[in-house]
Amino acid sequence: MLMIKMVIVPLVLASLIVGASSLGDVRKLGRIGGKTVSFYLLTTAVAVIIGILMSVLFNPGSGLQLPANAAYKGKAAPPLMDVLVNMVPANAMQALLNADMLQIIVFALFIGIGITMVGQRAKPVELFFDGLAEVTYKIVGIIMAFAPIGVFALIMPVVAANGPKVLIPLAKVIAAVYVGCIIHLALTYSTILKVLAGFSPVRFFKGILPAQMIAFSTCSSAATLPVTMKNTQENLGVSKEVSSFVLPLGATINMDGTAIYQGVAALFVAQIYGVDLTLSQMLIIVLTGTLASIGAAGVPGAGLIMLTLTLQSVGLPLEGIALIAGIDRVLDMARTTLNVTGDAVATVFIQNSEDKRQQSGVTTSA
Ligand code: ASP
Repeated sequence: MLMIKMVIVPLVLASLIVGASSLGDVRKLGRIGGKTVSFYLLTTAVAVIIGILMSVLFNPGSGLQLPANAAYKGKAAPPLMDVLVNMVPANAMQALLNADMLQIIVFALFIGIGITMVGQRAKPVELFFDGLAEVTYKIVGIIMAFAPIGVFALIMPVVAANGPKVLIPLAKVIAAVYVGCIIHLALTYSTILKVLAGFSPVRFFKGILPAQMIAFSTCSSAATLPVTMKNTQENLGVSKEVSSFVLPLGATINMDGTAIYQGVAALFVAQIYGVDLTLSQMLIIVLTGTLASIGAAGVPGAGLIMLTLTLQSVGLPLEGIALIAGIDRVLDMARTTLNVTGDAVATVFIQNSEDKRQQSGVTTSA
């Protein structure tokens, strides 16, 4: 737990700065960039909400109270206005020292935007944080090598004290994530495809199936990217121009499966620690869950690490992660599949709206 906590602040700071500065580049690409990013943000927020609803529905934490953490008391939730105002740190270094996630996010976003606005002279800064992000991912990799031992040691006493009844909630977590992903596929994506893009969902899912299978087995959006590119271009008729811009960005910042997972996991942890979340805390989960999924790298287990951000933002105990870590790979398979599918939906949507523009004779100068 200490090793994970050790790496959170540099990880979140560096990966969000890199994410924000690449968003800045996107802005320059104007219309397509704006459309892509809005599409990604909207679908991701919907995904977190679906995740929260799934956890409310399945109530995976019911009947499981963690005795080891009986001393844990949920923080009193501050009013929404205070949360918003306090997102801006009075002292950025203090925010880092206190590991105040929301403040670090705001600081990181400003640095990322600043980097883009400064341009050439800020390149070394961008490269530094890019390198730092890579280094923290590597450190996470090292820590993950210890995860099986850590997870065993953390779960064993819980199972020993409670018996197999703690395993049932975990099965419910798996069900909540999988059903959430299927709902997002069947409702959100199919509707977008059919209504907004005039594209047959059946043709879409057939065409993207190979990428989905790679995603399911590798648990990595980044590793799947070449296949996603190929499938969208060859099977879905998306142009190279659109797919080579929308997909790499999507593999980095658009993770609807990870977002659903953040919602399910946060509520699950709240349930097992007996924390009643207020409406404003739920809104914070939607916000930080969206940001966490943006910040998560397209590699196996990234979403689990980013869960620290979501949990910490509403004062939930990080120890809850230990329980979920044991089943994370199974969850990762579903969420990575959805992550990749969401990127492909975006390419079809953007392609369609670009085609429409061209047909109506609008020039691309907007
Ligand atoms: N494995 C996921 C992906 O590559 C990220 C995550 O862990 O949520 O898309």
